[in-house]
Amino acid sequence: MTDTGTPAFGPATITADDPRYPSMLLGTNHRFPARPDYVRVVTTTDQVAAAVTEAVAAGKRIAVRSGGHGFEDFTAHGVEVLLDMSEMTAVGYDAARGAFSIEAGATLGHVYRTLFKGWGVTIPGGECPEVGVGGHIVGGGYGPLSRSLGAVVDYLYAVEVVVVGEDGLARAVVATREPGDPHHDLWWAHTGGGGGTFGVVTRYWMRSPDAAPDATDPAALLPKAPSRWRSGMVVWPWETMTEEAFNRLQSNFGAWFERNSGADSPYAPLAGYFHGTHRSGFGLTVGAHIDDDVADAEKLMTTFFEEVSAGVEIPPLFQNQQVNPWLYFSSYPNWGDPGDPFTRRIKIKAAYLRKGYSPEQTATLYRHLTTGDASPVQLILIGYGGRVNTTAPHATAAAQRDSVLKAAFMSVWGDEGADQANIRELREMYRDVYAATGGVPVPNEANDGSYINYADGDLADPEWNTSGVPWHTLYYKDNYPRLQRVKKAYDPRDVFRHKLSVRLPG
Ligand SMILES: Cc1cc2nc3c(=O)[nH]c(=O)nc-3n(C[C@H](O)[C@H](O)[C@H](O)COP(=O)(O)OP(=O)(O)OC[C@H]3O[C@@H](n4cnc5c(N)ncnc54)[C@H](O)[C@@H]3O)c2cc1C
Repeated sequence: MTDTGTPAFGPATITADDPRYPSMLLGTNHRFPARPDYVRVVTTTDQVAAAVTEAVAAGKRIAVRSGGHGFEDFTAHGVEVLLDMSEMTAVGYDAARGAFSIEAGATLGHVYRTLFKGWGVTIPGGECPEVGVGGHIVGGGYGPLSRSLGAVVDYLYAVEVVVVGEDGLARAVVATREPGDPHHDLWWAHTGGGGGTFGVVTRYWMRSPDAAPDATDPAALLPKAPSRWRSGMVVWPWETMTEEAFNRLQSNFGAWFERNSGADSPYAPLAGYFHGTHRSGFGLTVGAHIDDDVADAEKLMTTFFEEVSAGVEIPPLFQNQQVNPWLYFSSYPNWGDPGDPFTRRIKIKAAYLRKGYSPEQTATLYRHLTTGDASPVQLILIGYGGRVNTTAPHATAAAQRDSVLKAAFMSVWGDEGADQANIRELREMYRDVYAATGGVPVPNEANDGSYINYADGDLADPEWNTSGVPWHTLYYKDNYPRLQRVKKAYDPRDVFRHKLSVRLPG
């Protein structure tokens, strides 16, 4: 916005004959280039509402893209109008609402920088600074501060959404977490119900759930950001790895998170992960992060590494711990996106774990990670739980509130010709790991479904989900009927839809 409150530009309409068009089509996952009739770049809520009304009147399928970091084809497949939010990036304190306002096109890195520099505060969001808040927050959102602070949606105070009524007209609605708000359910749906399903989020407002009602100092309304951030890792190369050592590492890692994921655990501030490539790749890494001002931060991290590697008789290639300023870690695109920016084809599959992997599952993982000459498959296990698990499953749409790990099975490659083989390989690894429950992580004592922000259309495909448990149970469990009621109330024409969007009720 300019000083006069008028938009700096826009809306801009970019059609196929426009030289800008080819630059507007790709998100991070290059498997899904969009081919819309036009891209509409918007800079105000009014422009969003006008764009949506126009698309609906013309009978054109519309989709909204913010940071472009969705894993599936939701902003590409069949989309005729692509609404580009990436120029709506304002972040600031809104005294009238007593909360921080964040426009949907802002990236996480931008949000972290502004909140930090302005007020020394932060939100427990994702680790990749280029992810857009537009899709991230509505999908649940978590990151390295989540074990100590909770999920991002636990901090969602309000959301402005452009929705479409039965009459086909778009209008902006502000929905808050205040229990008496007539739009309370719309707020609730945005605490994990997933993007591209209820309307277009134009901005979010964030405020800690435990901020005192009369608090007015913005620096007290969100968690204080760390100052110094300790990161460490232990790396074993595949050349010296044995199946026995792999098994030991997996069982130690799972058991460690089963033991140390209570909100009151001294280890709650520790964000630990396991990363394993295929044997043709780098190797196996156990890593961790922690706010270095937490008492005994170094000792906590060292003990974590010792306990997870206990009995792994193979010397690591290297191990280290280093401390950097928080902002270096959280907002600089030093690691950010996987792969090469020009050749980034991605498939992800995910799961929540209430327990570490069983010996049978570990054997299956080992087999897939060591079969064949070369493969891009990776297994990433990320520590979860802690404060996340202090919120009730129905309090937000993010239903998984007693897991200790999230798993991401991911492949990233460059050659389009390798799509089929790479996707099949990843699908088979996941199916085999979850063979006992129909190829998917059906909620039981060990699994708790999957994470909508790691969207995987296969969960809705009977070839890959033979469990008989529908995709929406895996993502939303018994929060789904309420999400469907919100869908009916706010998107009765099902304007916003994709493979995994909430369906209208029966
Ligand atoms: C490299 C990488 C790292 C990641 N790291 C993390 C992480 O650490 N933690 C984590 O929780 N997640 C992580 N994610 C997942 C990420 O949170 C989701 O993919 C998220 O949906 C991306 O949002 P986006 O706006 O960037 O994507 P987009 O592709 O723009 O959108 C994704 C979905 O949300 C919808 N959407 C986008 N904007 C809006 C809007 N304004 N209103 C309504 N719907 C909207 C889209 O229509 C689409 O369905 C990561 C993803 C990638 C690719």
